[in-house]
Amino acid sequence: MVGPRGGIAYPDETPYDRDADGILWLRTLINTGGGRPDFGRVHPLRQRWVMRRLLCQVCGGPADKDERGTLWLLEDHRADWDGWPNGLLTAHPPVCVPCAREAVRFCPNLLAGHVAVRVGASQVCGVYGVRYLPGRPHLVPSPTATVVEYGDPAGRWVLASQLVRALSDCTVVLDEFADVSARSQ
Ligand SMILES: [Zn+2]
Repeated sequence: MVGPRGGIAYPDETPYDRDADGILWLRTLINTGGGRPDFGRVHPLRQRWVMRRLLCQVCGGPADKDERGTLWLLEDHRADWDGWPNGLLTAHPPVCVPCAREAVRFCPNLLAGHVAVRVGASQVCGVYGVRYLPGRPHLVPSPTATVVEYGDPAGRWVLASQLVRALSDCTVVLDEFADVSARSQ
């Protein structure tokens, strides 16, 4: 529904439904079921928790960090711009080394399309979610989810499901996973 101050709202909204920036978050059931790690699909509550604290997206332990920065596995878009992934906005949390290896083993696509990156600095800068547009009789969700940065007025119309970080001081480290880089070079 449309809230009293414009933007989307839950009819029975509580303070827990919004973050400190006033953005509405998707309500989800907490599923603690096991199963094998599903790389790239992280539960919203868990994603928020691990992204905020720079924990591993798979096991929830500390993400790996060395003198070059925190370890991320990213889809390889090095051709997108000079210095990629500096300036990239991502909803994917970092990883620890054992989980990165495990993820690559479970998800062979990673071998072809991902690179390991050391990120020297990153900042929580916005959310990823579905933007709603005016419609009758109900609001209409946009067909694809989008990134909205904090401070953007569009944030009032977004139902957030993931936290987004801006990456900087990045180093692509193909040597990090010899088994990965051998196939991605
Ligand atoms: Zn891990």
